[in-house]
Amino acid sequence: MKLHDILIVGAGLAGMRAALAAPSHLDVAILSKVHPVRSHSVAAQGGINAALGENDSWEAHAFDTTKGGLYLGDQDAIEAMCREGPGDILELERMGVIFSRDERGRIAQRPFGGAGFPRTCYAADRTGHAILHAMYEQLMKRRIGVYEEWYVTLLIVEEGICRGVVAWDLVRGGLHAIGAKAVILATGGSGRVFLTSTNAVINTGDGMVLAYLAGAPLEDMEFVQFHPTTLKDTGILITEGARGEGGHLLNTLGERFMTRYAPEQMELAARSTVSLAIGREIAEGRGVEECVLLDLRHLGRARILERLPQIRELAVEFAGVDPIETPIPVRPGAHYQMGGVRANQWGETEVAGLYAAGECACVSVHGANRLGGNSLLETIVFGRRAGQRAGDYVSRIAPRGLTDVALRAEEAGIRRLMASTGRERAWEIRDELGKVMSQNLGIFRTEKSMRQALQIIQDLKVRASRVWLQDHGKIFNTDLIQALELRSLVEIAETIVAGALAREESRGAHYRSDFPRRDDENWLKHTLAYWTPDGPSLRYAPVTITRFPPK
Ligand SMILES: Cc1cc2nc3c(=O)[nH]c(=O)nc-3n(C[C@H](O)[C@H](O)[C@H](O)COP(=O)(O)OP(=O)(O)OC[C@H]3O[C@@H](n4cnc5c(N)ncnc54)[C@H](O)[C@@H]3O)c2cc1C
Repeated sequence: MKLHDILIVGAGLAGMRAALAAPSHLDVAILSKVHPVRSHSVAAQGGINAALGENDSWEAHAFDTTKGGLYLGDQDAIEAMCREGPGDILELERMGVIFSRDERGRIAQRPFGGAGFPRTCYAADRTGHAILHAMYEQLMKRRIGVYEEWYVTLLIVEEGICRGVVAWDLVRGGLHAIGAKAVILATGGSGRVFLTSTNAVINTGDGMVLAYLAGAPLEDMEFVQFHPTTLKDTGILITEGARGEGGHLLNTLGERFMTRYAPEQMELAARSTVSLAIGREIAEGRGVEECVLLDLRHLGRARILERLPQIRELAVEFAGVDPIETPIPVRPGAHYQMGGVRANQWGETEVAGLYAAGECACVSVHGANRLGGNSLLETIVFGRRAGQRAGDYVSRIAPRGLTDVALRAEEAGIRRLMASTGRERAWEIRDELGKVMSQNLGIFRTEKSMRQALQIIQDLKVRASRVWLQDHGKIFNTDLIQALELRSLVEIAETIVAGALAREESRGAHYRSDFPRRDDENWLKHTLAYWTPDGPSLRYAPVTITRFPPK
């Protein structure tokens, strides 16, 4: 059996950053179900926030983040992120990230929604790609061991302490137990629980569910961000940077309709506001084929080619529209999970030895609505902090072997799945689940539609447990992985619905047509979902407020 000091599950930005931050004398390994540079972080377009500007300050950044999150974020964690952000950006630059420059040669910053100041650093519209590749080089340089294309199926928890994982080796087939004194989850988001989503197909919320099944609560899962502008039909993201550069949103009448919803911030209002506005325009018949139009033409050819080259390529290739000449048809789509494994500012979860960072975690810096550019920052700041803290923790822990109880139980589970005589295929259920979620838990929610969705999801959960695998082989059995991912997706869906049904108010990304007002008196609190065999059991926890009283 393999044993490490720290095992990191997930090789996106949060995972790599944690690996690089852990003390170098420790045995650190990182594990990922895809090649590290195929992690979803690579797709981040618009940029990463930090108060670098001469007239900007981390306090202003913290205020914008708190306000943008409708006061549901924990302000101590927000302060840590905003205070430490500028230092982290400079460190990224020293690692070799080539940020775009302004005319004076400094790191350029573009305006993003909900920010009082242009503070989003970027590398054209390929920011995630630039950072992830630079970080991967550092990982190689440090010779950190990578389990490439391994899929974690279970966290091993003995006597209440996390002691490792069970994982399936995709390339060679077979389950293995891997022991570790500390495990850091950095498994990213769960956007694929919705049919229309900007997320990669691998974003199935596995890590959140691993922690949930191990006894750690999932926090604020009802808060799913719908990005206002995803490309017609495909759901491919059209970065907020396009509006940051000056793009306009138009309805069929050619009106810049944001004048009616947010006359001051216009297209750069908070994402939840812009998504709701687009949803209204479409619902009231002022859309085109379930979309509105994003007009970049006035920016001119040169600026589009320099600042938004990838956006142009995507629009041409996937919608047959060249934004230099024609507006792009866009609509809101699921984008980001504000909730996740409840973790404190140092990534510690409620299970000893288990840490979480990045999108899979809820440190709660985004509250009810994340500001664009803050998620990449979260992965970098809290990935680092989790790596450091896990490093301190393992120095105090004696090495210890594992029993093979968990491994044997998982092996039996895989054998059962392989032998299933069910008729349904995993992808059929996955599609159905996505549709139910997009229809009933999208930008507008009501009790009636959510209750219907819950019933269907509970039924899908039973069906998901007896899907039929066509491939019974060991080598690259993607059929098996799909079936395992489906189990994550149904659990995630249940926690989202449970939290959303219970929360009888509207706040940020959670909009209830039957409770359209924010209700601080009863609902300024975090939802915690604990796993039980009968579905999530909800508890609540207070929000940490330090310098900004809710307004
Ligand atoms: C299209 C798009 C554009 C975005 N643009 C921006 C932006 O401009 N600015 C911004 O701030 N945010 C942006 N975001 C959000 C941001 O990119 C993500 O929240 C962030 O990159 C997540 O990083 P992560 O390290 O937490 O996870 P990821 O990068 O998603 O990595 C997850 C890792 O976990 C591994 N993994 C998952 N499950 C398992 C398992 N069961 N076993 C083994 N390994 C597993 C995966 O293989 C992967 O390596 C964007 C998101 C999308 C989808």
